[in-house]
Amino acid sequence: MRIIADTGRCVGAGMCALTAGAVFDQHADDGTVVVLRPEPPAGTWAAVREAVAVCPAAALALSPAGGRDH
Ligand code: SF4
Repeated sequence: MRIIADTGRCVGAGMCALTAGAVFDQHADDGTVVVLRPEPPAGTWAAVREAVAVCPAAALALSPAGGRDH
């Protein structure tokens, strides 16, 4: 999977970094999302999906990586 982050929508709530800290971080200045692993390893997918679901700004989306969900 690939993570798509719309930083224009992100309000810096930090739920993503709290939920999947290996994949998401936040900018030190304004708190907006930093995607550390745009193509996260499979072991993180459950947490990544939860992070996408809990984002209050709907700033995160998922797409298959290279057309294949691996
Ligand atoms: S949970 Fe959503 S709004 Fe909050 S920092 Fe992450 S992407 Fe931004």
